Amino acid sequence: MVKYARCNAMLSLALDENGQPCRYMAQADTEDAIMSAMSDHLKGVHDVDPADLINNIKGITKTTRK
Ligand SMILES: [Zn+2]
Repeated sequence: MVKYARCNAMLSLALDENGQPCRYMAQADTEDAIMSAMSDHLKGVHDVDPADLINNIKGITKTTRK
C-alpha cells in the first residue's frame, strides 16, 4: 500500500515555478513521510508555511494499493 497526496487539491490555484497548475504528488509509505515531503514542496516551490496546512495535508492524504 502506498500513501499519496496531491498538491493541487490542497492549494487552490497553486502554480508551479513555470506558472502552470501544480501537479506535484507526494508518495510514500507513511503519513509522516508524506507530511515531510509535502512540507518541503510547499516551502520550496510555493513559499508557503506548511505549519498552516498540516490538517489539509492529512485530509487529502489517500492510501492506495499499487
Ligand atoms: Zn505544489
